[in-house]
Amino acid sequence: MDTLEKGRSISEISNINTSQVLIIGAGLSGLEAARLLREKGIKTIILEARNRTGGRIWSVRSKTGHMFDTGATWIHGIYGSIPNGLLSNPLWDLTQEAKIPTRGTDIYDIHVGYPFDGNISETYNWYNEYLSFTKEETRMSSPNISLAYYADLYVKQKNLTDKQQHAFYSYLAFTIKFNEGAELNAIGAKNFLSLSSSHYGDEHIFHKTGFMALTDYLARDVDDIRFNQIITKITYTDKMVEVRTRNGEIYQSSFVLLTVPLGVLKAKEIEFTPQLPQWKLDAIDRIGYGFFEKVFLVWEQAWWNSTNFYFMGMSSNPNNVRYWVNANKWNDKPVLIYFLAGQADFPTRLKENHDELIEELRRNLQEMFPDFVVPPPVETFVTHWNEDPFSYGSYSYISVNQTYEDSLFLSEPIQDRLLFAGEATSIDSYGYAHGALLSARREVTRLLYGYELLPIKNITTSQSILITPLTILFIIQFIFLSFFYY
Ligand SMILES: Cc1cc2nc3c(=O)[nH]c(=O)nc-3n(C[C@H](O)[C@H](O)[C@H](O)COP(=O)(O)OP(=O)(O)OC[C@H]3O[C@@H](n4cnc5c(N)ncnc54)[C@H](O)[C@@H]3O)c2cc1C
Repeated sequence: MDTLEKGRSISEISNINTSQVLIIGAGLSGLEAARLLREKGIKTIILEARNRTGGRIWSVRSKTGHMFDTGATWIHGIYGSIPNGLLSNPLWDLTQEAKIPTRGTDIYDIHVGYPFDGNISETYNWYNEYLSFTKEETRMSSPNISLAYYADLYVKQKNLTDKQQHAFYSYLAFTIKFNEGAELNAIGAKNFLSLSSSHYGDEHIFHKTGFMALTDYLARDVDDIRFNQIITKITYTDKMVEVRTRNGEIYQSSFVLLTVPLGVLKAKEIEFTPQLPQWKLDAIDRIGYGFFEKVFLVWEQAWWNSTNFYFMGMSSNPNNVRYWVNANKWNDKPVLIYFLAGQADFPTRLKENHDELIEELRRNLQEMFPDFVVPPPVETFVTHWNEDPFSYGSYSYISVNQTYEDSLFLSEPIQDRLLFAGEATSIDSYGYAHGALLSARREVTRLLYGYELLPIKNITTSQSILITPLTILFIIQFIFLSFFYY
């Protein structure tokens, strides 16, 4: 390793923290990996930049006493998903094991708002027909054609009227754009349809505790989590990995499992020595990473009487489709949650004046519910995942630039020492919390059985020798360099 710098003191060198596996990030994937490794007797340290666990799972108690899930909310598809064909969603199994109460929601239970006077079930049929049409069209075509292109083609072939088109495009935005956090013209049709998983069974939420109850449950079985440790540099060889934090701490380990969000990798917040190989850098560059934010509006009591789970505000412009969640129905709270998604929707609107945004949303509700008077909310809360330096966005999606192999490349280890987990490395459940969980299980399998990592008491000389000689080498190098510079 060529990491020794002029001026580093001997006490810094001897103050090196070691563990068998160093995990970067205490989100769902980092916690699950640490918990499983601990079960097998493997010593880990988790280094976490924030002062809390959970990462993009973050339940916040509001001033008016309601619990808001600012990040992940749903367990999608409790029976499991295709193509990975799980018998049930692993998050669901974990929730049962932890005995955390949940409530089912229904994606088809929608109040469709102004200006729609058609039949919503007709729209579901067009949507399904569009997916089959696009699947057939993309079988032999290039992967770099967007979902939006095939939507336009479908609408032309189907000869939909203007009003029907508004309904169709609105529903596409409602189901795809708000799930992927990306515009339809940014999503690659062929790879999206081949890779993205379809979920089966109810969708559940943590209506009493917030999603964080699940990451808290995992964290209980993790020994060593170190907070406020912002990783800035990772140096690796085929023998070991060294990690440095912004506040100058140094950690060494036989293996590092990196679980930071794709947004952090894209922002190049971590320096790698040697540089990551080009195929990894290209994958980081090409895989999509979306915008998805929430605005919570709280009233003293619900002024609306809709018993639907979701409200969809149609628009002739798919970028203006509105997506609301009726928390009064699913959480017994006088709260409505507005979603902002996709490039066109997001950056400018959130940067606008907060009061203007809230007033715009109030007007937009008034249009959807003309028979009610919509009072100003008593509390509001807006998420800012996009500006968060430990996330820089919401979650990954299949971009139009991405190749079929890119997600596989993102998940592949470097030199069998530096491993990658986290939602974006999940090939078919990318974006989802269960994708993060599965990615951790994949990498723990790799460590335990691929690399035959053994519990600390069984360590053979060849494994335990990794740290000491290198540290000695550092010290010799240091003495030599100090002498040279002196
Ligand atoms: C608004 C929103 C809504 C969502 N809704 C859903 C949903 O309903 N259902 C669903 O299944 N999924 C949903 N998701 C996605 C889900 O939250 C994620 O897939 C999952 O939580 C990702 O877990 P992870 O371990 O991969 O990453 P993270 O949870 O992001 O964990 C990575 C950790 O790395 C840390 N970190 C970052 N940089 C550094 C650094 N330099 N040094 C040290 N540590 C660092 C971070 O602080 C973080 O704790 C949503 C996400 C968002 C943002």
